[in-house]
Amino acid sequence: MATAVSESVRTYQLYIDGEWRDATGGDTFPSINPSNEEVIANVPKGTREDAQAAIGAARRSFERGEWAGKSLRQRSEIMLKAWKYLTEVAIERDWAGIESADAGVTLRLANLAHVPTALEHFRSLAVQGGEIKEYEPLPWVDMPAVAWNFVNREPQGVCGQIIPWNFPFMMACWKLAPALVTGNSVILKPASNTSLTALELVKALDETGLFPKGVINIVTGPGASVGEEIAANPDVDKVAFTGSTEVGRRIMQLASGTVKKVTLELGGKSANILLPDADLDLAIDGSLLAAFWHQGQICESGTRLLVHESMHDEVVERLIARAKEIVVGPADDLESGMGPLVSEAQLATVKRYVEIGKQEGARLVLGGKQPEGFDKGYYFEPTIFDGVTNDMRIAQEEIFGPVLSVITYTNTGEAIKIANDSIYGLAGGIWSQDIPEAISVAKAIRTGTMWINDYHLLNDVSPFGGYKQSGVGKELGMQGLLEYTISKHIHVAASTKRSDRFIWDTLLP
Ligand code: NDP
Repeated sequence: MATAVSESVRTYQLYIDGEWRDATGGDTFPSINPSNEEVIANVPKGTREDAQAAIGAARRSFERGEWAGKSLRQRSEIMLKAWKYLTEVAIERDWAGIESADAGVTLRLANLAHVPTALEHFRSLAVQGGEIKEYEPLPWVDMPAVAWNFVNREPQGVCGQIIPWNFPFMMACWKLAPALVTGNSVILKPASNTSLTALELVKALDETGLFPKGVINIVTGPGASVGEEIAANPDVDKVAFTGSTEVGRRIMQLASGTVKKVTLELGGKSANILLPDADLDLAIDGSLLAAFWHQGQICESGTRLLVHESMHDEVVERLIARAKEIVVGPADDLESGMGPLVSEAQLATVKRYVEIGKQEGARLVLGGKQPEGFDKGYYFEPTIFDGVTNDMRIAQEEIFGPVLSVITYTNTGEAIKIANDSIYGLAGGIWSQDIPEAISVAKAIRTGTMWINDYHLLNDVSPFGGYKQSGVGKELGMQGLLEYTISKHIHVAASTKRSDRFIWDTLLP
């Protein structure tokens, strides 16, 4: 597809070993604004060699220990200074505007929630990192010998961090902050569709002068080369990835060659359950937020709406009426509740699934097409299928677009069974006025996060991550921070006498 080049096309570079440089070979690729299909920036097309250079720089920096050798508290204090600088430049550099132009995040969302929340998570993870116990004494033991034991918590080492295109700035903060405060050296690889705010973030961190060279590196470029090098390279100790389950499986495979630690935050097909006593004034809007926020391009979206048969007709009628009020339009228009999908490829995926839904016999009751009135841009209408059964592909496969499947159930046990009948287990929602009942349903669902009378609200202290094929490990909170550390057990013998070491007698006379 032809793309126009606007006057303000920015050009970026890779950041390796404390220096900004072009990709080996000098290739770049365009970043396209999904609202109008204009090129907004040229991004270096990093190569395997660039990834290797960044990994080498990270390894050397880790071994020099200028960053890893500081205490958690010292690093936490430095990170807070860095955060202060980030908050000073965020507005003047218009990170929300760049995110909106690059990723199609509506300005309403980027300004009000996404960029400020990501920065707040950066701050909070820096603070919580300082509270990790560096030394953790263990109970005194006298078997097999009298000894004092403790755990020393250390950084994993070199961490490769591969992030997706849906919330690029947030994902960059979620990856960099916990890895850095715990003393690791990192190589960040943004998604090729949306590299800009991660590059802006690293640029600002570089300007602080607070991080020794090689501790932070960013290499943009294709997943098939840069991403695979990061996942397979023996000098990388841990890979943290957010993206599709398919690529997550591939990363796990590549990482297994050197038994790297992995954390994977993958796909979802979350069930959002309206119990018969749900307050529909709240639950209808909440269910639309669950399904259509950021055009449905969120891993934990509530894409399967489970509705009790007693309320089915009223729910569907009200969903349609309210969804019709969502304004679809350019991401930089403050009127827009939904912007475009991230790319032409993602638009094609969504269209394909709408056809699959129709062929499977689901009833299309809203949307299902691109809205009229746009010559350019990857817009798609909020789309609702009714009469969906859980065995349909539109109920089992992640679509990652504004497509909601309504599934009817007859009793709560059946709703739980349907919710659990998925390869995924990332999140879910329950709407009910009976909180103890809602909690017991939440506990029965095999999924990493459940919201009761709310949706999408992740926070800085609660662990986020999937069951089943939705992932491995957690992000955010203390659990997320500890994923970037490794525990060393240190045993100190309490006695200096040979006679207190009877175990030795099993070998020696
Ligand atoms: P991917 O999983 O392909 O991309 C996520 C990241 O992985 C990107 O940085 C990508 O780089 C990189 N990558 C791709 N292939 C490899 C590889 N072989 N080795 C290492 N890294 C790799 O997501 P897509 O963009 O292809 O989207 C496809 C589907 O993934 C969506 O429809 C959605 O279902 C799901 N998805 C889930 C997300 C989540 O938050 N869980 C986020 C985004 C997508 P590059 O961009 O250069 O290809």
